[in-house]
Amino acid sequence: MAPFRARAARPHAVPQPRRTLALLVPGLVLALCGFGAAQVVAAAAAPGVRPALGTPAGLEPARDYHTYANTHEFRVQHLDLALDVDFEAKRLSGAVDLRLERLAAEADRVVLDTNGLVIRRAWLVDGEAVQPLEFRLDDGIPVLGRPLVLTLPESVRGRSPLTVRISYQTTPQAQGLQWLTPAQTAGKRHPFLFSQSQSIYARTWIPLQDTPQVRYTYTARITTPKALRAVMGAVNDAAAPLDGDFAFEMPQPIPSYLMAIAVGELEFRATGPRSGVYAEPSVVERAAREFVDTERMIEAGERLFGPYRWGRYDILVLPPSFPYGGMENPRLTFATPTILAGDRSLVALIAHELAHSWSGNLVTNASWRDFWLNEGFTVFAESKIQGELYGAARRAQEDALGAQSLVRELARLAPRDQVLAVDLRERGPEEGFTPIPYEKGRFFLNWLESRAGEERFMAWLRGYFDHFAFRSLHTEQFLEYLEATLVARSEGRIRMDEVREWVYGPGLPQGAVLATSDAFERVDAERGRFLAGTPAAALATQGWTTQQWQHFLDGMPRTLARAQLGELDAAFGFTRSDNAEIEFSWFRNVIRNRYEPAYARLEQYLVGIGRRKLIKPLYEDLMATGAENAAFARRVYALARPGYHPIAQTSIDAVVK
Ligand SMILES: [Zn+2]
Repeated sequence: MAPFRARAARPHAVPQPRRTLALLVPGLVLALCGFGAAQVVAAAAAPGVRPALGTPAGLEPARDYHTYANTHEFRVQHLDLALDVDFEAKRLSGAVDLRLERLAAEADRVVLDTNGLVIRRAWLVDGEAVQPLEFRLDDGIPVLGRPLVLTLPESVRGRSPLTVRISYQTTPQAQGLQWLTPAQTAGKRHPFLFSQSQSIYARTWIPLQDTPQVRYTYTARITTPKALRAVMGAVNDAAAPLDGDFAFEMPQPIPSYLMAIAVGELEFRATGPRSGVYAEPSVVERAAREFVDTERMIEAGERLFGPYRWGRYDILVLPPSFPYGGMENPRLTFATPTILAGDRSLVALIAHELAHSWSGNLVTNASWRDFWLNEGFTVFAESKIQGELYGAARRAQEDALGAQSLVRELARLAPRDQVLAVDLRERGPEEGFTPIPYEKGRFFLNWLESRAGEERFMAWLRGYFDHFAFRSLHTEQFLEYLEATLVARSEGRIRMDEVREWVYGPGLPQGAVLATSDAFERVDAERGRFLAGTPAAALATQGWTTQQWQHFLDGMPRTLARAQLGELDAAFGFTRSDNAEIEFSWFRNVIRNRYEPAYARLEQYLVGIGRRKLIKPLYEDLMATGAENAAFARRVYALARPGYHPIAQTSIDAVVK
């Protein structure tokens, strides 16, 4: 998933980390985050009194705590899906065949994950013969849904593989699907459907083993209203006729959270020999121009990380209600239209999703506790791709923004949530989806690289992707591999106790170096001049990147005079910006200072965009800054909510009360 870089500059309500941070970061970053101006904060814990760092007591690293599936007895190898898309009923309806490899000779039941599915019937399939199966839906924990238990007949004891067929339908509330009315699309003529299966939402539209530990290949037959196109994270045929009947095959085995489907009025444009873009007709040309560097990105990825193993790399641009920046569905990244800035300044997101073709999709976290193995590696890889394409300066800016986000987050999160391998027992997976796995993960890899040397580290990384290709691994397996292959050959430059501190300790280890960028120091200087009275129009802002503008706005003091905001807006046109990220940073200043000339546009923004990262912090700001702003938030949310994705609705329901 796209990185979390929400600039959540809320007051620090949560106490500082238990163990004092020892940060070698620029004074700028520290000063911004309330740590004071000192460059280094000495470690307070006396030597020898720290608790040993390691796997939490009682936690089984190989176990996925977010599935009901009996994967130790059966594993899905292949799946055949046949679904009809009914926009009127907001329902997928059909059947799935699961081919199961038997791991336990005596096992007499198959347990699958479901959430909100209506299960109609189940069968055992044996060639042409089908035999009804007894089944039941047991009670479960709400966040995990309900286990579907299929009872196998005595006659198939010991037999492998087995195929079971389940006839079922979804409900309109399925968390993993969003059904858009024509009014919610760019074209306004046809409805639209898209899925978001990460983390545990595949089970809301397919009964299966919903765990990243199981990989399978699949085929799908999807029927839709005519004039619409269905696409999946599989082999897509851009020339398939719009006759309401689409067939897909996915030859590479994937985990369930990468199951993906979308249906809408979609056109295709090629952007390279193995890349292209799907989008609504009014968006597709703009999207193709924005993503013109895709082939160069794939080539950079291959130079850095080894062959691209998925055939094609296409991008689907979704309507604005997509709750995330992007989702790395294999062969077909799903992306928000908010990255279409017109100047390719936000295509870091594409570098990120593409990088998942190695980290995440190829080498996969075994459970959501190990999410940092997906995301930390991906942010690191994304940054490398950016450097290859756009140079070291752009890379440094993105890294510095990531560092700022990390330091802010460390000040906000409880210590148990500051560790890379976050313990998510009895919690939903998404409680671990913070900037920690992304940014702390990235800086851990930067640290490893700085100790090992770039050449050796990158060779190691290619070996890692190769060794674990099309497999899942957990944190402890990773540490074992790292020790044997990199640490042992590092001539003492990397020590495992340091590594364990990165992985299991809260905060940042002593000696952690976070990124900085002199491009931001120049921005700070210009902001300082403005605050000291230099007219906005006289500032030296020529050639600033999106990231510099964000930094300029994010670093403004809490209070600005109305005249200052008016002057900034007149000079730089923030309220009418086409760049969703710059507008976001601007609106945070607008809200804090109740700068009313921008409120009409703020309302349009909140109603028009459903990307959670861009809207949730604005609602939070509105609710925290007085009765008038809170009333505005309630009124706008009532208008906007029906257009948001269920995932965004759930998050923002908790904010706007
Ligand atoms: Zn990601």
